[in-house]
Amino acid sequence: MILPGATVGVLGGGQLGRMFALQARTMGYRVVVLDPDSQSPAAAVADQHIRSGYEDPKGLAHLAKLCAAVTTEFENVPAQALQRLAASCIVRPSGQAVAIAQDRISEKTFFQSHGFATAKFRPVRNPEELEAAVIHVGLPGLLKTSRLGYDGKGQILLTEAAAAREAFARLGSVPCVLEERVELECELSVIVARGADGAQAVFPVAENQHREGILDTSMVPARVSEKMAKQASALVTEIAAALEYVGVLGVELFVTKAGALLVNEMAPRPHNTGHYTLDACSVDQFELQLRTLCGLPLFQPWLLSPVTMINLLGDLWNGGEPRWEEALRRPGVRLHLYGKAEARPGRKMGHLNCLAATADQAFSLALESREALRRNS
Ligand code: AMP
Repeated sequence: MILPGATVGVLGGGQLGRMFALQARTMGYRVVVLDPDSQSPAAAVADQHIRSGYEDPKGLAHLAKLCAAVTTEFENVPAQALQRLAASCIVRPSGQAVAIAQDRISEKTFFQSHGFATAKFRPVRNPEELEAAVIHVGLPGLLKTSRLGYDGKGQILLTEAAAAREAFARLGSVPCVLEERVELECELSVIVARGADGAQAVFPVAENQHREGILDTSMVPARVSEKMAKQASALVTEIAAALEYVGVLGVELFVTKAGALLVNEMAPRPHNTGHYTLDACSVDQFELQLRTLCGLPLFQPWLLSPVTMINLLGDLWNGGEPRWEEALRRPGVRLHLYGKAEARPGRKMGHLNCLAATADQAFSLALESREALRRNS
């Protein structure tokens, strides 16, 4: 066990690293952040900031020297950087697990080869594979870049075969997957923490809504049957075990109109849909990231209150600084801001966790509170 007083490191300096660092410091750890950006939200709350690229051997060696264990908050950290670090300190999750999760082709192939149901898909690495994929998968379908896509970026909806080549070219002719467009009943996610001894702790299932490809709200409890919620939790624990994963894993799921449960994708880190745990659970996803990193005991988290997490994107700043007092004067509303200097459209600047007696009330409170923040509403 790596106990309080030790130093832990995080690769990546965004909001997830910030919330990890705050939690680790609360529990008496020292925190080092490695990130190239001088304005890093995580570095602002860490003990030390190593300003270097993720592949810079000097920066990585410095991090390994300072830290007993290192985690990541960012799946696009090169898996080789994690593998290099693993030669001299504990690294969780492993480079191998991150390598699978950061590439849609290997991720979906992993799901398929372990019998976890996904939407129908085919890898597309060249125009011949594109043609075969359109026939196999059928249209409408989504052409998604295999790497570096996030928040709906790097995706094109294909409705006719004649437009496929141009879409592939627009995505830069980089490796992609073509995926059938599923008729969605709803979207769910499950955050799981798995220790090096195989013990797992699973958070309650969240029901998520997206706007323009970006997560908008996460509602807990999800409005699905108990049977579906159990099935979703069981599926995600099986995925974590099959990956021999150590750390916190966020898995996004689709419930189809036909009632099937499909895996969409996974993130080898705490997840935006798990931010509700910060205020509505007995323990939050960042503490479990720390616990799995340090080999501390894991136990089953429980929900303290129905909750909706609602994201605050840069657009909210259009009319000037949002009216924070409107969030602060509403009982049950908790404000989280990530300390980002510049509010750009679509950029995640913070979120509200809105707690109420029922899930529906928490959802309404979230929508109403965010609207009230707008200067130009
Ligand atoms: P992704 O980046 O793969 O998580 O996609 C972002 C969002 O696009 C998802 O959360 C869904 O709302 C939607 N989406 C992605 N893939 C599909 C699909 N195969 N069928 C229907 N909707 C999808």
